[in-house]
Amino acid sequence: MSEKLTPMMEQYQNIKNKYEDAILLFRLGDFYEAFFEDAKLLSEATQIVLTSRNGYPMAGVPYHSLDQYLKKLIDAGYKIAICDQIEEASKSKKLVKREVTRIITPGTIIEENLLNSEVNNYILLASFLNDQYILVAADISTGDMGIASSEDSEDISDIINKLNPSQLILQENLKEQRKYIVPANSDIFTEYLEDWNFAYSSSVEYIKSFYDIVSPDFLELSKEEIIALGALFKYLEGTHLDVLKHLNYPRSLMGTDSMYIDSDTIENLSLFPSRKKGSLYSSIKATLTSMGSRKLKEWLLNPLNDRKKIEKRLDYVEALFHDGDILNNIRSCLKEVYDIERIVSRLATGKAIPRDLHSLRKTLQILPEITEQLSSMSVFDEIVSNFPDTLEELSLLENGVMENPSSVVGSGEVVEYGFNKELDELRELLNNSKKCLKEFEREEKRKSGINNLKVKYNKVFGYFVEVPKGQTDRVPDYYTRKQTLVNAERYITPEIKEFEEKVLGATERIEDLERAIFNNLCDELNKSLKKFKQISELLSELDVYQSNAYIARRSKYCRPLFTKERNMYLKNSKHPVVENFVSDFVSNDIYFDKENSFYILTGPNMSGKSTFIRQVALNVIMAQMGSFVPAEDAVMPVYDRVFTRIGARDDLAGGVSTFLVEMMETATILSKATENSLVVLDEVGRGTSTFDGISIAWAVSEYIYEAIGCHTVFATHFTELTELSSMYENINNLTIKVAERNGEIIFLHKLKAGVASRSHGIEVARLAGIPELVLERASEILKVIVKTSAIDKTVKVLSTDELTKIKKKKKRKMHRDQTTLFDNQ
Ligand code: ADP
Repeated sequence: MSEKLTPMMEQYQNIKNKYEDAILLFRLGDFYEAFFEDAKLLSEATQIVLTSRNGYPMAGVPYHSLDQYLKKLIDAGYKIAICDQIEEASKSKKLVKREVTRIITPGTIIEENLLNSEVNNYILLASFLNDQYILVAADISTGDMGIASSEDSEDISDIINKLNPSQLILQENLKEQRKYIVPANSDIFTEYLEDWNFAYSSSVEYIKSFYDIVSPDFLELSKEEIIALGALFKYLEGTHLDVLKHLNYPRSLMGTDSMYIDSDTIENLSLFPSRKKGSLYSSIKATLTSMGSRKLKEWLLNPLNDRKKIEKRLDYVEALFHDGDILNNIRSCLKEVYDIERIVSRLATGKAIPRDLHSLRKTLQILPEITEQLSSMSVFDEIVSNFPDTLEELSLLENGVMENPSSVVGSGEVVEYGFNKELDELRELLNNSKKCLKEFEREEKRKSGINNLKVKYNKVFGYFVEVPKGQTDRVPDYYTRKQTLVNAERYITPEIKEFEEKVLGATERIEDLERAIFNNLCDELNKSLKKFKQISELLSELDVYQSNAYIARRSKYCRPLFTKERNMYLKNSKHPVVENFVSDFVSNDIYFDKENSFYILTGPNMSGKSTFIRQVALNVIMAQMGSFVPAEDAVMPVYDRVFTRIGARDDLAGGVSTFLVEMMETATILSKATENSLVVLDEVGRGTSTFDGISIAWAVSEYIYEAIGCHTVFATHFTELTELSSMYENINNLTIKVAERNGEIIFLHKLKAGVASRSHGIEVARLAGIPELVLERASEILKVIVKTSAIDKTVKVLSTDELTKIKKKKKRKMHRDQTTLFDNQ
């Protein structure tokens, strides 16, 4: 580095000092340049050539392709500070003023090219205030906001898992706990905020100004929640992205107005695509817009717990289900709908591009067709009347924006002809300039008699007349010589200079004028943000209704009936995902009522136990999110929650053994399930010794049955547990039919009442190719163990005293937040 910095580099250094933690991209003419260490990082992450200037490293990207480099930088985990020239270079003789105009992080991107259209892009702030964990979530690109508070770090960690944010902001005091609240091995971009950022009075001010409200009271947040929300707003303000106008009021992330689905259940039931093949989301997704896909995901994550609201959604789905023509017409219309939810965010933050306005225009244009289709079914009356009138906005867009606008505002190819007289004249002038030049050339040839003179243009001299050497004596006296070449002389004339001024002036003026008109258009549209937001909400919901109807028709689903009784019945139900992968999926029934609240499901490996219990849970989740279900007949109560404990899963990366994970999941169920929950268990106690395992599974079953009393299916290999049915009245046994032919087992996948005759483990081992010698020896040992280890009648039913104790304890426990295993450690 040279000793004394130039004034510009001094300016750079002053700005860089304020943004130590970001890569600073410094606008220099048509480039964003990075210097010193930043240049090296930029070059490494984007493969841009590293050069040097006065001996220090430098790398730059062209301003018009900034987005593509931003993506690479963000993917590589960097924070980026964009420093722009904030005054015209020509108007200032000295150094051009520069300022950081935007800080870009993974959670604050808003540009369409940088976002995944199918998923939300959350920035989460977690804080720990007065023994409360507070979590605030914001998707800047859609305006969605959420908030949660709990004394239990596991709740917070679960929501983080669910929302899968692209950025985390943690209060400094959570640094030590990061490993408990953030998914193990997660590489989520994380920043820490010092405690002083969390102050009540400043938070109140931020909330007031962000939401433009007099007081945060009506948001009904606790003091701690207000502090955390304000801290997030403060952070956002620091990014210079003007998110003032479009963020929604925060919704509860804790499932107060929906069924809470924890991240284990999401994983256990494969609700969303992951490494494994098939997910519920992919199987039932027939949405046609990005907004609809995100809404479907949101609804799957938050099924409703209010019967009326569920029925309302189902009414819409049913109407479309019965009318294939209207369904198809609506589907065709939705194909014309763009992601206006995100366009709204870009409009609100001043980041809209010409294509956004064009997409908005296309979307508004199709609305009348959509409402007309819906109007033919009275059930949609309310929705139709909720579509705001956008005739004015549409006419503004139709008159103001070209059909396929250029991406460069100022090119003259964005604003529609006829919208602005001056712009039209300037464009006309430019378009005619070629014609004019030809005419001028012809006229000059005629006047001078020089037949091979040419009018040309270059950057240094602008427009000029070129005359070959042999003809220069015929040049008229109003020609002024500008340059001598080997074979020609170059001249300018007053007329050509006048023309040049006009053309160059016009280009510049078009640039300014079109930019001003575009900004004006955006300002005008900004006045209607609420309307557009409402439309995006209505369209995304409609998209999910039609998707549900479409899938229901295609896969022959039925509308679930909700009952106030605590009864549940699925007739010939199927697994919505597995049925697509196996050719002859065998349907099954299940029935829950007072006398049948708890089932022990036994059967050999591969007979379909896991599939069945998952399918019961999936049917419930689908129904409560407003979908038809894969069954011939379905009656169900509204469940408050679905709990799952499935399979052996090591969380080795998180340093937790299979058995501990299993027990933690079980502990959560025992403490959180209520009599209105559905619990499906697939093996409890497999991760330890058989006797330990059976004993734990037995006691867990008793506890769920007696103290909680919720609908439960427990799939297990421990046939010993089937004894429970003879001891407790409403515990029943189910098994899956298996046939045997020539010593080979055939899985029939059909459920029936009863107990698996035996476990068939040895047959399955044979199928897998275990040597016969080993199998024979195993059979021998099995006989001995079975004889000596059966549960006999000496195990007693829980006494009345014990029962009362358990029930009382459970009740008390439901009233205070449980202490987790982690906290005890
Ligand atoms: P288990 O839990 O008893 O070991 P799974 O539920 O994992 O068995 O099922 C094993 C396989 O059997 C599944 O992958 C699927 O291919 C098939 N299967 C399960 N249930 C059915 C069914 N009802 N009809 C047809 N095939 C089924």
